[in-house]
This record gives sequence, C-alpha cells and structure tokens, in this order.
Amino acid sequence: MFLLDFLASHVHALVFSVLLLGLLIGSFLNVVVYRLPKMLMHDWQAQAREILNLPAEADKQTFNLILPNSSCPHCAHEIKPWENIPIFSWLFLRGKCSACKAPISTRYPLVELTCGLLSAYVAWHFGFTWQTGSMLLLTWGLLAMSLIDADHQLLPDALVLPLLWLGLIVNQFGLFASPADALWGAIAGYLSLWSVYWLFKLVTGKEGMGYGDFKLLAMLGAWGGWQILPLTILLSSLVGAVLGVIMLRLRKAETSTPIPFGPYLAIAGWIALLWGEQITASYLQIAGFK
Ligand SMILES: [Zn+2]
Repeated sequence: MFLLDFLASHVHALVFSVLLLGLLIGSFLNVVVYRLPKMLMHDWQAQAREILNLPAEADKQTFNLILPNSSCPHCAHEIKPWENIPIFSWLFLRGKCSACKAPISTRYPLVELTCGLLSAYVAWHFGFTWQTGSMLLLTWGLLAMSLIDADHQLLPDALVLPLLWLGLIVNQFGLFASPADALWGAIAGYLSLWSVYWLFKLVTGKEGMGYGDFKLLAMLGAWGGWQILPLTILLSSLVGAVLGVIMLRLRKAETSTPIPFGPYLAIAGWIALLWGEQITASYLQIAGFK
C-alpha cells in the first residue's frame, strides 16, 4: 500500500503515472477500435445466417481483442513487443513497418497521446479520488466509441450500455450526481433525442441520428445527472460546428459523407462533466441572471 499512499500525497507523481497508464490504454483502444466492429459484424452475420437457415460459415481462426497478435496489414509482419510501445515505437520506426516499410497511420500515436493527455488531465482535475478512477473508465470508453462511430457510424451497445450502468452505480455513492438526478438524467437523456428523432422523421421522412445517440446521451445523463443535459446538447452543436468546418477544410470535396453525431455528444458530455457548473455559472452571469 506504500505506492498508493505515495500517489495520494504526491499529485505530480499521480498525474505522471496516469499519463503513462493512459498511453498504454490508448494503445489498447487502437486495438478495440479496429477489432470490435469486425467482431460485431462477424457475430451479426452468423446470427443472420442462423435465422435464414443458411449453413454456418466454416470456422475461421480466433479473432478477439487479445488474439491473434497485431500484425502489419501490408506484409503480415507480426508486431514485436518493442515495436508496440506507445508513441515511442512509432517515432523510432519513423512511422513505417520495420519489415516492409509501409507507412503506419499517424492516427495510432495520436490516439495514444490523446488518451494519455486526457487521462492525465482527469487525474489532475479530481486528484487521488474515486472520481478519478471512474472518470478514467468513462474517458477511455468515450474515446473508443467516438472513434468507432466516426469510422463506422456505429455506437456499440457493448461499450455504451455497461458505461450507462456504471454511471448509475457510481452515483449511488453520489460521485458526480445524486442517485435520483442520475436516474432522471438517463431517462431524460434517452427521451429527449428519441423525441427529436421522431419529430424529425415525421416532418422530413429522414433519419437524422441513430438509436446509439439516444443511448449515449442517456449514459451521459446517468453520469452527470439531468442537469448536464441542456449544456451537453448545446455544446455538442458547438463542437459539431467547429469540427465540421475543420473536417470540411481537410476533406475538401467529400461534403456528402455522413458526419456521425456520437463523437460530438461524447466530447460535449465529457466537457460538461468536468466544467459544467463553471460554464453554466459564467453563462448565467454573462446573460445577467446573477
Ligand atoms: Zn509491413
């Protein structure tokens, strides 16, 4: 318990340890983001074949979050442990596969760095508390689901629902909101977007978002209580506008590609959980209510 005592009394050591942990988790999230959608797709295909009475596909090799080991998509060179150190390996290999020299996407080290910095910030913000521990789990989950949603327009229940329950559980101890506020946050989060969805569909005949978005907002409500919902929705449109402009600049012509709503909600919810009270207070002050 000496280590825990030390971290509890030295905030810089805590932040630095969480930074390193965040880099390692970021490396794992790269695997989750790449493999989880493939695993889900494989499951859905297998279920569909069963329902349609089609013969099951011949058993392929094991494919889960742990196995097989990561390999280069170009030459199938198996990634050695020393080539898998967050950020440093990518820098050392100069962003190229050690065997075939095919470029490795800058996205991998960027996800690791983002995960490390966000984790370190959470530890600095909440200190040596249960809030830090639970907020780290939420942060990692939000990062993974944002990337999966951006890639596949899919918010996997396998990530969203366990975090929804976890939000309700941590708030049984009032970590971020009272138990009642958390429960109503989950309900109001789901119903608010659900109503917008059906209103939009009745008026325009189109689908503006997916059920994953309702569940994600329900999850954020379970963590921060119903009070964070208005700010979360407001911020998500703001984040969406800013990122939307940046992405249009970067991607140039591809204006018709659907931009998923999940990442904006995730970023907005994260900001609202960390600074919601200050933002609302200064907003009311500017508006002249205080
Ligand atoms: Zn290679």
